[in-house]
Amino acid sequence: MTQQYDAVVIGGGHNGLVHAAYLARAGRKVLVLERRHVLGGAAVTEEVFPGFRFSVASYVVSLLRPEIIRELDLPRHGLEILPLDGTFTPLENGDYLWRVNDHARTRREIARHSRVDAEAYEEYGKAMVEMGRFVKPILEMTPADPTSRDLKGLLELLRIGRRFQKLPGADQYNQVQLMTMSAIDFLDQWFETDALKATMAASGVIGTFLGVRSPGTAYVLLHHYMGEIDGAFRSWGFARGGTGAISNAIADAAREAGVEIRTQAPVARILTKGGRVTGVALAGGEEIPAVTVSSSVDPRLTFFTLLGREHLPSEFAEDIERYKFRGSSGKVNLALDSLPDFRALPGAGPHLRGAISISPSVDYMERAYDDAKYGRYSRRPYVDVVIPSLTDPSVAPAGKHVMSCFVQYAPYHLKEGDWDSERERFGDTVIDTLAEHAPNIRDIILHRQVLTPLDLERDFGLTEGNIFQGELTLEQLFFLRPAPGWAQYATPVRGLYMCGSATHPGGGIMGAPGRNAARKILKDA
Ligand SMILES: Cc1cc2nc3c(=O)[nH]c(=O)nc-3n(C[C@H](O)[C@H](O)[C@H](O)COP(=O)(O)OP(=O)(O)OC[C@H]3O[C@@H](n4cnc5c(N)ncnc54)[C@H](O)[C@@H]3O)c2cc1C
Repeated sequence: MTQQYDAVVIGGGHNGLVHAAYLARAGRKVLVLERRHVLGGAAVTEEVFPGFRFSVASYVVSLLRPEIIRELDLPRHGLEILPLDGTFTPLENGDYLWRVNDHARTRREIARHSRVDAEAYEEYGKAMVEMGRFVKPILEMTPADPTSRDLKGLLELLRIGRRFQKLPGADQYNQVQLMTMSAIDFLDQWFETDALKATMAASGVIGTFLGVRSPGTAYVLLHHYMGEIDGAFRSWGFARGGTGAISNAIADAAREAGVEIRTQAPVARILTKGGRVTGVALAGGEEIPAVTVSSSVDPRLTFFTLLGREHLPSEFAEDIERYKFRGSSGKVNLALDSLPDFRALPGAGPHLRGAISISPSVDYMERAYDDAKYGRYSRRPYVDVVIPSLTDPSVAPAGKHVMSCFVQYAPYHLKEGDWDSERERFGDTVIDTLAEHAPNIRDIILHRQVLTPLDLERDFGLTEGNIFQGELTLEQLFFLRPAPGWAQYATPVRGLYMCGSATHPGGGIMGAPGRNAARKILKDA
């Protein structure tokens, strides 16, 4: 007879695993069901080509909540974060911009382009850290619904208001501007160097179908600033062994707490009776009873594919229908025979150890978006490149390298053609773009893996290929994620919860949705 579980978790991505670990630590009998043969979801390492291990989708880490690292004792379970040093931007005029973790060096480097910007950079950094500090406690909150009469929730919102009031005046203005402006308008207030603004603005458009000049992108900038590594705000790093090592460390902690994990176990249906969840049915027909079911997959999959619209209040179903995915990113993973040689800074120097950002100017970034607006992938895309094998040689054979290229824009809906026939041409576009800066790239590619938004949907279950399980735009954040009135991890079906990136505080390897949702379930009991 199939056992009854206290909790079944749909999806073994990092949030599902975090969620399961916290429930099990509170004494629940928990089962995680993962569709794929490997755990991690978008935070996964796979040997795509013999000897070359790729962080196939997500590739750098910063947002993972320090309290989760601590509470689940992830370093003991194998988590090791190696710092990512700096961002190198080759420019169209043959020069470059290179920011590193060494403050004084970065200052000197920016001063080469603009003395004013070198001064402003320091002030900007401080202001963003303050903004990050303000937002940080919000990440751990269950967002209160401002329209409800729940006194406790309203008091929490009031407390945010109070904290806002206590911010110095300039920080209050910054915060409002971050919530309303475009990344470029916001950065224009601080800087004059075009390439600096373009590169900084890039993190404002990642995972959105917006351009650097679109209002609302300044907030996404902040989202990417909220991370910390060992207490250092804004820093990004590689997980030794790739981002899958993060998921594996969490899975290890979960198993230690008693969680059972099954891979190649796709859930086909969420089972209910009388408006209450009773368990799940697997694609093979097996039914697994459970008191609660937590879905770490997006709302479209959860409510329309697995549950069925007929079990939902119509207003809620309409809100979920309106939830925007609009995937805009692709990924090209390259196995390299040697290192790329950049025209702007030749040789295998330390500039290759950090991020390499193909974002030479604000117009370049906006033109990349122009293409996407009209239904085609960017002729010259924004590409965020990392070469993890330089920091963690374990991921490639000796002397060889893995190179990860995150690409924007690649709209899920193409105006002409389809992704299956455009995949290789899209890959060529990315290589052509890189070759303009590093002409030897074509000669050193041993293998390439091209992932279009359609592939992200097929391989990782990311609807419309959105990397964050739904756009990180203001109208889909906090008490609006995934739907107004339903941001507290519970759903209209009793016992059914959401615990993935489609809930507050959103996407990224963060773990906060999983942890917050577990707290909510334990509180509801
Ligand atoms: C190309 C790309 C690049 C990114 N880069 C970064 C980055 O560098 N840094 C960063 O912080 N974030 C990055 N992200 C975002 C980040 O990886 C995700 O937001 C995060 O990993 C999502 O975690 P999750 O657990 O919420 O969901 P997911 O990782 O989506 O996990 C959901 C899991 O559910 C499984 N599943 C789906 N359907 C079923 C079913 N029916 N039954 C059972 N299981 C099912 C899926 O296989 C998957 O394992 C990137 C994402 C992508 C796609």
